[in-house]
Amino acid sequence: MLSLRRSVLRRFMGGSASPLNATLEEKRAMVGEALQFLTELERAPAPLAGSGHVWIGDGDAGTRERQRNRDAVASLDLGLSEAPYVPPTGSSSFHHLLKTTLDPAARLSMNDTHGGYMAFVPTGGLYHSAIADFLASNLNRYVTITEAAPALAQIEQETVAWLCREICGWDAEGGAGGIMTSGGSMANMIAVHAARRAAMGNKDLPNATLYVSEQSHYCVAQAARFVGLQPKHVKHLPSLADRTVDVEALRRELRADVEAGLTPIAVCATAGTTNTGAVDDIAGCADACAEFGDVWLHVDAAYGGAFALTGRGKALMRGMERADSVVVDPHKGLFVPYGLGALLVKDRAKLLRANHEDGACMHPPAFFEGPGAEPVVDLMNLSPELTRDFRALKLWLPLKLLGGGAFRAALEEKLDLTAEAAARVAAAGVSGLRVVDEPQLSVFTFKLEKEGLEGEELDKLQLRLLGAIHERGRVLLSPFRSVKGVPGELCLRVCVLSCKTERRHVEDAVEDIIGAAASLNT
Ligand SMILES: *Cc1c(COP(=O)(O)O)cnc(C)c1O
Repeated sequence: MLSLRRSVLRRFMGGSASPLNATLEEKRAMVGEALQFLTELERAPAPLAGSGHVWIGDGDAGTRERQRNRDAVASLDLGLSEAPYVPPTGSSSFHHLLKTTLDPAARLSMNDTHGGYMAFVPTGGLYHSAIADFLASNLNRYVTITEAAPALAQIEQETVAWLCREICGWDAEGGAGGIMTSGGSMANMIAVHAARRAAMGNKDLPNATLYVSEQSHYCVAQAARFVGLQPKHVKHLPSLADRTVDVEALRRELRADVEAGLTPIAVCATAGTTNTGAVDDIAGCADACAEFGDVWLHVDAAYGGAFALTGRGKALMRGMERADSVVVDPHKGLFVPYGLGALLVKDRAKLLRANHEDGACMHPPAFFEGPGAEPVVDLMNLSPELTRDFRALKLWLPLKLLGGGAFRAALEEKLDLTAEAAARVAAAGVSGLRVVDEPQLSVFTFKLEKEGLEGEELDKLQLRLLGAIHERGRVLLSPFRSVKGVPGELCLRVCVLSCKTERRHVEDAVEDIIGAAASLNT
């Protein structure tokens, strides 16, 4: 009955008879209901750790949660079938579906959009970006070929140009460029691929080496293996007490490898490690790269790069302009919802050369059409992706609407709040509570020590402390092992980066850390 009415109405309205193509009225209703759903979720938010104790690892709470999660997931109607979804009479199918599946599913997750979320690397998620995603999906234009959507493709180029200028100090006129990716891991992979092609073209790689620090994100070593480097040729360098890479060790390793006939294809520095926010001596790495035959310098600034918008961050990242490639994650420090990374390169021609395939089904970029040709750059020739979303809009729109200054101010605030919080924890006077890693950017780590407690017992105390902090329900933190694989080295970690995190949330975190530590001491 209902579907018959709908198809008659569709035809009457001049719409399509297929349910696949929504009528204007259906569209309006869906947008309204989606907004209503989100508003209700925001008004009565899920507990901060709707789910997450298992993953974060705090002991007994985790075991209870695993069972609770299994039961809750099993109780939801998530399976798919041939027939359309039928709600009980009287309610719209979309509204009912949101209410009975998406709402409980969302509540059963770590609440990454809560201001108290200071675990892992938060982002918060700008509403402006979510609207941009909605617009981009509805426009559904083909931005990977410039002539198919020249102005929209230019929006992608402008976004990349802004990142190049503000974060790396590179000028698009001077040949800089890059590509927006799905995230930092993918951007690192394309960077390592470009470095490999620049160093050795299509030659085999039995002798190629790449250098990371023991504090680097695992995805860089993974990228090296992905492009075909031998695992033993991915060299993990030691880090110093402040967890930045030991540049002298890098020099020694480069010297030994070159003397042994190996071919260094890239050195990867990190500007803001995921664990502690440590910023490597990028200028020092650049010097070392120059000394050994101009090795490609890659900087993984997925977490830290956005802080180059601030004076303090810029000073720490001195030398970034000397890199060949830099990765930043707007879905971290620029507060965009998940799904946006960026690879920036000083010389876009190198990225084009690395990715351009003669056999591409589309016309080759004019860039290669000989002297005098106007260099039109199609996004499809800058990365292995062809058809993809118009993803830059979710950074471009908020930047255009709010201005870069709003982002700069927010990042300055994150640095201030982190420094204050670390200082207050350090000065709390709770016996055994100490800050392990002072903040370089917006991360600090701490732990609780007890006389006579070491190794695994000491680690367990940290997990108990984490559980006691989480039990207060106001903030969510994460643990990390400050020296890989060594019992007794577990620390807890605070990362202030969400656009939703305000002073009051950070004050809650400080109070809860101090309070929970004191309670474990008695
Ligand atoms: C998060 C992170 C990555 C990985 O980025 P994704 O966007 O999660 O793929 C790489 N490097 C560093 C330093 C990071 O913090």
